[in-house]
Amino acid sequence: MGQDCTNKDRNLEVCGCTYEACTRRGKCCECIQHHLKNKQLPGCCFPPEVEASFDRSFKAFAKAWGL
Ligand code: SF4
Repeated sequence: MGQDCTNKDRNLEVCGCTYEACTRRGKCCECIQHHLKNKQLPGCCFPPEVEASFDRSFKAFAKAWGL
């Protein structure tokens, strides 16, 4: 954790997360580790209207995609 990400700028160009204050933005390896540890998924896994709710739970993911 905390390593420099050489892809950060490129990742930010396509990042679907709108939580601007997050220190993990653009560092996808840290992002997914953080969310999986909390039984969640990163914001980019959700459609925009669900992402905006900041509910990153597996349950919200399944509901969003009709699973
Ligand atoms: S999905 Fe979560 S960890 Fe990733 S950038 Fe957004 S708020 Fe941060």
